[in-house]
Amino acid sequence: MDDNINVEGLLRDDMYKIPVRCSKCGKMLKYLGVGEYKCEACGYTEYDDYGLVRAYLEKHPGANAVEVERATGVSRKIIAVLVKQSKIEIKGRARFIEEGTHDQRK
Ligand SMILES: [Zn+2]
Repeated sequence: MDDNINVEGLLRDDMYKIPVRCSKCGKMLKYLGVGEYKCEACGYTEYDDYGLVRAYLEKHPGANAVEVERATGVSRKIIAVLVKQSKIEIKGRARFIEEGTHDQRK
């Protein structure tokens, strides 16, 4: 697997979603790290795309990209970016990243 994927380009085009406000009460969220955000007003925890994927992989170690995409709703392109940044580990990731970058053509 070569390293020709333009992660910066992927990020610029399709940065994963970051929650700003609590979906329960609308107050500002505090970032806890590893993709988790907590509302200090009501205690509700929100996840960004990275947090969703990471939480899913914790419960389902060895899940492949298609399973993760289906379960979390996070697109494979974004999952590919997270894998590339070594934020997450995905089974069969080399092939998966290749597939993910094909969507990049518009
Ligand atoms: Zn809240």
